[in-house]
Amino acid sequence: MFEGLSDKLSGILDKLTRRGALTEEDVNAALREVRRALIEADVALEVVRSFTDKVRARAVGAEVVKSVTPGQMVVKIVHDTLVDTLGSEADPINLEAVPPVAILMVGLQGSGKTTSTAKIAKRLTDRERKKVLLASLDTRRPAAMEQLAVLGKQVGVEVLPIVAGQSAVQIARRAMESARLGGFDVVMLDTAGRTTLDEALMAEVAEVKALTNPHEVLLVADALTGQDAVNTARAFDGRLGVTGIVLTRVDGDGRGGAALSMRAVTGKPIKLVGVGEKMDALDEFHPARIANRILG
Ligand code: GDP
Repeated sequence: MFEGLSDKLSGILDKLTRRGALTEEDVNAALREVRRALIEADVALEVVRSFTDKVRARAVGAEVVKSVTPGQMVVKIVHDTLVDTLGSEADPINLEAVPPVAILMVGLQGSGKTTSTAKIAKRLTDRERKKVLLASLDTRRPAAMEQLAVLGKQVGVEVLPIVAGQSAVQIARRAMESARLGGFDVVMLDTAGRTTLDEALMAEVAEVKALTNPHEVLLVADALTGQDAVNTARAFDGRLGVTGIVLTRVDGDGRGGAALSMRAVTGKPIKLVGVGEKMDALDEFHPARIANRILG
Protein backbone atom coordinates (compact mmCIF):
# COMPACT_ATOMS: atom_id res chain seq x y z
CA MET A 1 0.00 0.00 0.00
CA PHE A 2 2.76 2.47 0.90
CA GLU A 3 5.49 0.80 -1.11
CA GLY A 4 7.93 3.03 -2.89
CA LEU A 5 7.16 5.86 -0.49
CA SER A 6 10.78 6.27 0.42
CA ASP A 7 14.04 4.64 -0.51
CA LYS A 8 15.89 6.46 2.22
CA LEU A 9 13.66 4.95 4.87
CA SER A 10 13.70 1.43 3.49
CA GLY A 11 15.68 0.23 6.53
CA ILE A 12 12.68 0.92 8.73
CA LEU A 13 10.67 -1.53 6.69
CA ASP A 14 13.06 -4.37 7.49
CA LYS A 15 13.56 -3.50 11.13
CA LEU A 16 9.98 -3.29 12.29
CA THR A 17 8.23 -6.52 11.67
CA ARG A 18 6.08 -7.09 14.75
CA ARG A 19 2.38 -6.33 14.53
CA GLY A 20 0.09 -4.49 16.92
CA ALA A 21 0.55 -1.00 18.27
CA LEU A 22 3.85 0.80 17.61
CA THR A 23 6.01 0.85 20.73
CA GLU A 24 8.29 3.71 21.77
CA GLU A 25 11.27 1.43 21.14
CA ASP A 26 10.17 0.69 17.57
CA VAL A 27 9.55 4.32 16.87
CA ASN A 28 12.88 5.48 18.31
CA ALA A 29 14.75 2.94 16.20
CA ALA A 30 12.92 4.17 13.12
CA LEU A 31 13.51 7.81 13.99
CA ARG A 32 17.26 7.35 13.81
CA GLU A 33 16.82 6.67 10.14
CA VAL A 34 14.37 9.53 9.69
CA ARG A 35 16.90 11.88 11.28
CA ARG A 36 19.60 10.70 8.90
CA ALA A 37 17.33 11.20 5.88
CA LEU A 38 16.47 14.75 6.97
CA ILE A 39 20.09 15.70 7.58
CA GLU A 40 21.01 14.31 4.16
CA ALA A 41 18.27 16.49 2.69
CA ASP A 42 19.96 19.54 4.32
CA VAL A 43 17.16 20.22 6.80
CA ALA A 44 18.27 22.58 9.60
CA LEU A 45 19.16 20.69 12.80
CA GLU A 46 16.66 22.47 15.01
CA VAL A 47 13.95 21.53 12.52
CA VAL A 48 15.11 17.92 12.42
CA ARG A 49 14.66 17.81 16.19
CA SER A 50 11.22 19.36 16.30
CA PHE A 51 10.07 17.28 13.36
CA THR A 52 11.16 13.96 14.85
CA ASP A 53 9.43 14.92 18.14
CA LYS A 54 6.25 15.49 16.19
CA VAL A 55 6.53 12.11 14.44
CA ARG A 56 7.23 10.39 17.76
CA ALA A 57 4.12 11.91 19.33
CA ARG A 58 2.00 10.70 16.44
CA ALA A 59 3.53 7.27 16.03
CA VAL A 60 3.95 5.83 19.54
CA GLY A 61 0.89 3.77 20.36
CA ALA A 62 -0.57 4.07 16.87
CA GLU A 63 -2.41 0.91 15.87
CA VAL A 64 -0.92 -0.71 12.81
CA VAL A 65 -3.66 -1.30 10.28
CA LYS A 66 -3.93 -4.84 8.95
CA SER A 67 -2.92 -4.18 5.38
CA VAL A 68 0.54 -2.75 6.22
CA THR A 69 3.62 -3.68 8.23
CA PRO A 70 4.69 -1.55 11.23
CA GLY A 71 7.61 -0.26 9.14
CA GLN A 72 5.29 0.89 6.38
CA MET A 73 3.09 2.48 9.01
CA VAL A 74 5.99 4.57 10.36
CA VAL A 75 7.05 5.63 6.87
CA LYS A 76 3.47 6.69 6.17
CA ILE A 77 3.32 8.71 9.41
CA VAL A 78 6.64 10.40 8.53
CA HIS A 79 5.38 11.25 5.05
CA ASP A 80 2.05 12.63 6.30
CA THR A 81 3.74 14.66 9.04
CA LEU A 82 6.08 16.11 6.41
CA VAL A 83 3.20 17.14 4.19
CA ASP A 84 1.33 18.68 7.16
CA THR A 85 4.42 20.60 8.24
CA LEU A 86 5.06 21.85 4.72
CA GLY A 87 1.47 23.09 4.52
CA SER A 88 -1.02 20.76 2.98
CA GLU A 89 -2.80 23.21 0.70
CA ALA A 90 -1.62 25.65 -1.96
CA ASP A 91 -1.62 29.19 -0.63
CA PRO A 92 -2.16 31.74 -3.41
CA ILE A 93 -1.03 35.36 -3.31
CA ASN A 94 -3.65 37.35 -1.47
CA LEU A 95 -4.91 40.37 -3.41
CA GLU A 96 -8.15 40.89 -1.53
CA ALA A 97 -7.90 44.55 -0.68
CA VAL A 98 -8.80 47.87 -2.23
CA PRO A 99 -6.50 48.40 -5.24
CA PRO A 100 -3.74 49.28 -5.75
CA VAL A 101 -2.55 46.36 -3.61
CA ALA A 102 1.13 46.55 -2.71
CA ILE A 103 3.37 43.47 -2.71
CA LEU A 104 6.75 43.94 -1.09
CA MET A 105 9.49 41.64 -2.39
CA VAL A 106 12.33 41.15 0.09
CA GLY A 107 15.42 38.97 0.31
CA LEU A 108 19.17 38.82 -0.08
CA GLN A 109 20.94 39.87 -3.26
CA GLY A 110 21.25 36.98 -5.67
CA SER A 111 18.31 35.07 -4.18
CA GLY A 112 16.31 35.58 -7.38
CA LYS A 113 14.23 38.49 -6.13
CA THR A 114 14.09 40.55 -9.31
CA THR A 115 13.50 37.50 -11.49
CA SER A 116 10.70 36.31 -9.19
CA THR A 117 9.14 39.77 -9.14
CA ALA A 118 8.86 39.74 -12.94
CA LYS A 119 7.65 36.12 -12.97
CA ILE A 120 4.88 36.88 -10.46
CA ALA A 121 3.89 40.04 -12.35
CA LYS A 122 3.56 37.96 -15.52
CA ARG A 123 1.47 35.37 -13.73
CA LEU A 124 -0.88 37.95 -12.22
CA THR A 125 -1.23 39.64 -15.60
CA ASP A 126 -1.74 36.51 -17.70
CA ARG A 127 -3.79 34.37 -15.34
CA GLU A 128 -5.68 36.86 -13.21
CA ARG A 129 -5.91 39.71 -15.68
CA LYS A 130 -4.47 42.15 -13.17
CA LYS A 131 -2.95 45.45 -14.17
CA VAL A 132 0.45 45.37 -12.49
CA LEU A 133 3.03 48.12 -11.95
CA LEU A 134 6.62 47.18 -11.12
CA ALA A 135 9.08 49.42 -9.28
CA SER A 136 12.68 48.83 -8.29
CA LEU A 137 13.80 50.36 -5.00
CA ASP A 138 17.41 49.24 -5.33
CA THR A 139 18.88 52.73 -5.39
CA ARG A 140 22.43 51.56 -4.76
CA ARG A 141 22.54 49.23 -7.73
CA PRO A 142 21.53 50.90 -10.99
CA ALA A 143 22.08 47.57 -12.76
CA ALA A 144 19.33 45.99 -10.63
CA MET A 145 16.92 48.79 -11.57
CA GLU A 146 17.81 48.33 -15.20
CA GLN A 147 17.32 44.56 -14.89
CA LEU A 148 13.75 45.01 -13.64
CA ALA A 149 13.05 47.42 -16.52
CA VAL A 150 14.32 44.83 -19.01
CA LEU A 151 12.37 41.95 -17.45
CA GLY A 152 9.22 44.08 -17.19
CA LYS A 153 9.41 44.82 -20.88
CA GLN A 154 10.01 41.17 -21.64
CA VAL A 155 6.86 40.08 -19.80
CA GLY A 156 4.82 43.05 -21.00
CA VAL A 157 4.31 44.62 -17.57
CA GLU A 158 4.67 48.32 -16.94
CA VAL A 159 7.69 49.49 -14.92
CA LEU A 160 7.87 52.78 -13.02
CA PRO A 161 10.34 55.07 -14.84
CA ILE A 162 13.66 55.47 -13.07
CA VAL A 163 14.30 58.94 -11.60
CA ALA A 164 17.93 59.41 -10.55
CA GLY A 165 18.63 60.56 -7.01
CA GLN A 166 15.39 59.39 -5.37
CA SER A 167 15.45 57.36 -2.16
CA ALA A 168 13.69 54.00 -1.82
CA VAL A 169 10.90 55.62 0.17
CA GLN A 170 10.45 58.36 -2.43
CA ILE A 171 10.26 55.78 -5.21
CA ALA A 172 7.73 53.73 -3.24
CA ARG A 173 5.57 56.81 -2.72
CA ARG A 174 5.77 57.65 -6.42
CA ALA A 175 4.87 54.06 -7.33
CA MET A 176 1.76 54.09 -5.14
CA GLU A 177 0.68 57.46 -6.53
CA SER A 178 1.22 56.38 -10.14
CA ALA A 179 -0.71 53.18 -9.48
CA ARG A 180 -3.63 55.10 -8.00
CA LEU A 181 -3.73 57.55 -10.88
CA GLY A 182 -3.22 54.87 -13.52
CA GLY A 183 -5.86 52.48 -12.19
CA PHE A 184 -3.43 49.66 -11.41
CA ASP A 185 -4.57 46.65 -9.39
CA VAL A 186 -1.19 45.66 -8.01
CA VAL A 187 2.13 47.41 -7.29
CA MET A 188 5.13 45.13 -6.87
CA LEU A 189 8.02 46.74 -5.04
CA ASP A 190 11.37 45.06 -5.64
CA THR A 191 13.39 46.14 -2.60
CA ALA A 192 17.18 46.39 -2.45
CA GLY A 193 19.14 43.26 -1.70
CA ARG A 194 22.45 42.90 0.11
CA THR A 195 24.82 39.97 0.13
CA THR A 196 24.50 39.74 3.92
CA LEU A 197 21.81 40.77 6.36
CA ASP A 198 22.29 44.36 7.34
CA GLU A 199 20.49 46.76 9.62
CA ALA A 200 20.46 49.72 7.22
CA LEU A 201 18.66 47.59 4.64
CA MET A 202 16.12 46.34 7.16
CA ALA A 203 15.42 49.88 8.37
CA GLU A 204 14.92 51.07 4.80
CA VAL A 205 12.56 48.23 3.92
CA ALA A 206 10.66 48.72 7.20
CA GLU A 207 10.13 52.36 6.25
CA VAL A 208 8.85 51.38 2.81
CA LYS A 209 6.54 48.87 4.43
CA ALA A 210 5.10 51.47 6.82
CA LEU A 211 4.46 53.82 3.90
CA THR A 212 2.89 51.35 1.46
CA ASN A 213 1.04 49.03 3.85
CA PRO A 214 1.64 45.96 1.66
CA HIS A 215 -0.87 43.13 1.55
CA GLU A 216 1.92 40.63 1.03
CA VAL A 217 5.54 40.72 2.12
CA LEU A 218 7.14 37.93 0.12
CA LEU A 219 10.54 36.67 1.15
CA VAL A 220 12.54 35.33 -1.78
CA ALA A 221 15.04 32.68 -0.72
CA ASP A 222 17.38 30.40 -2.63
CA ALA A 223 16.70 26.71 -1.94
CA LEU A 224 20.35 25.91 -2.62
CA THR A 225 21.52 27.94 0.38
CA GLY A 226 19.95 25.33 2.66
CA GLN A 227 20.62 26.13 6.30
CA ASP A 228 21.64 29.74 5.60
CA ALA A 229 18.21 30.33 4.13
CA VAL A 230 16.77 29.60 7.56
CA ASN A 231 18.75 32.38 9.25
CA THR A 232 17.74 34.75 6.48
CA ALA A 233 14.09 33.80 6.89
CA ARG A 234 14.17 34.28 10.64
CA ALA A 235 15.82 37.71 10.35
CA PHE A 236 13.49 39.03 7.65
CA ASP A 237 10.39 37.65 9.32
CA GLY A 238 11.37 39.00 12.74
CA ARG A 239 11.96 42.46 11.39
CA LEU A 240 9.40 42.81 8.61
CA GLY A 241 6.67 40.27 9.25
CA VAL A 242 6.83 38.11 6.15
CA THR A 243 3.47 36.81 4.81
CA GLY A 244 4.84 34.17 2.47
CA ILE A 245 7.93 32.65 0.92
CA VAL A 246 9.02 32.32 -2.70
CA LEU A 247 11.59 29.55 -2.88
CA THR A 248 13.87 29.82 -5.91
CA ARG A 249 16.24 27.43 -7.72
CA VAL A 250 14.10 24.47 -6.75
CA ASP A 251 15.02 23.13 -10.21
CA GLY A 252 18.60 22.63 -9.04
CA ASP A 253 17.78 21.35 -5.57
CA GLY A 254 17.39 17.60 -5.35
CA ARG A 255 17.18 17.59 -1.57
CA GLY A 256 14.23 19.74 -0.58
CA GLY A 257 15.46 20.54 2.92
CA ALA A 258 15.23 24.32 2.66
CA ALA A 259 11.48 24.20 2.08
CA LEU A 260 10.87 22.24 5.26
CA SER A 261 13.28 24.37 7.30
CA MET A 262 11.88 27.69 6.12
CA ARG A 263 8.31 26.66 6.68
CA ALA A 264 9.00 25.17 10.12
CA VAL A 265 11.05 28.13 11.36
CA THR A 266 8.76 30.93 10.16
CA GLY A 267 5.42 29.14 10.07
CA LYS A 268 4.81 31.11 6.87
CA PRO A 269 3.51 29.41 3.72
CA ILE A 270 5.68 28.74 0.72
CA LYS A 271 3.52 30.41 -1.91
CA LEU A 272 5.46 29.81 -5.09
CA VAL A 273 8.62 28.06 -6.24
CA GLY A 274 11.07 29.14 -8.92
CA VAL A 275 12.03 26.27 -11.20
CA GLY A 276 14.27 27.91 -13.80
CA GLU A 277 15.49 31.15 -15.29
CA LYS A 278 12.69 31.60 -17.82
CA MET A 279 9.83 33.95 -17.02
CA ASP A 280 7.26 31.17 -16.86
CA ALA A 281 9.40 28.94 -14.63
CA LEU A 282 7.28 29.57 -11.56
CA ASP A 283 5.14 26.85 -9.96
CA GLU A 284 2.69 26.53 -7.17
CA PHE A 285 4.14 24.78 -4.16
CA HIS A 286 3.30 21.08 -3.94
CA PRO A 287 4.07 19.79 -0.44
CA ALA A 288 3.81 16.10 -1.40
CA ARG A 289 6.39 16.56 -4.17
CA ILE A 290 8.85 18.14 -1.76
CA ALA A 291 8.11 15.49 0.86
CA ASN A 292 8.98 12.81 -1.68
CA ARG A 293 12.15 14.64 -2.57
CA ILE A 294 13.20 14.87 1.08
CA LEU A 295 12.53 11.19 1.68
CA GLY A 296 13.85 10.27 -1.79
P1 GDP B 1 18.34 39.19 -7.09
O1 GDP B 1 19.71 39.76 -6.90
O2 GDP B 1 17.83 38.56 -5.83
O3 GDP B 1 17.36 40.13 -7.68
O4 GDP B 1 18.52 37.95 -8.09
P2 GDP B 1 18.16 37.83 -9.64
O5 GDP B 1 16.70 37.88 -9.82
O6 GDP B 1 18.98 38.80 -10.40
O7 GDP B 1 18.61 36.34 -9.92
C1 GDP B 1 19.95 35.93 -9.88
C2 GDP B 1 20.17 34.79 -10.88
O8 GDP B 1 19.41 33.65 -10.50
C3 GDP B 1 19.70 35.13 -12.29
O9 GDP B 1 20.66 34.62 -13.20
C4 GDP B 1 18.40 34.37 -12.44
O10 GDP B 1 18.12 34.00 -13.77
C5 GDP B 1 18.63 33.16 -11.57
N1 GDP B 1 17.39 32.58 -11.03
C6 GDP B 1 16.39 33.22 -10.36
N2 GDP B 1 15.43 32.34 -10.02
C7 GDP B 1 15.81 31.12 -10.47
C8 GDP B 1 15.23 29.79 -10.42
O11 GDP B 1 14.16 29.54 -9.86
N3 GDP B 1 15.96 28.79 -11.00
C9 GDP B 1 17.17 29.02 -11.61
N4 GDP B 1 17.80 27.98 -12.14
N5 GDP B 1 17.72 30.24 -11.67
C10 GDP B 1 17.06 31.27 -11.12
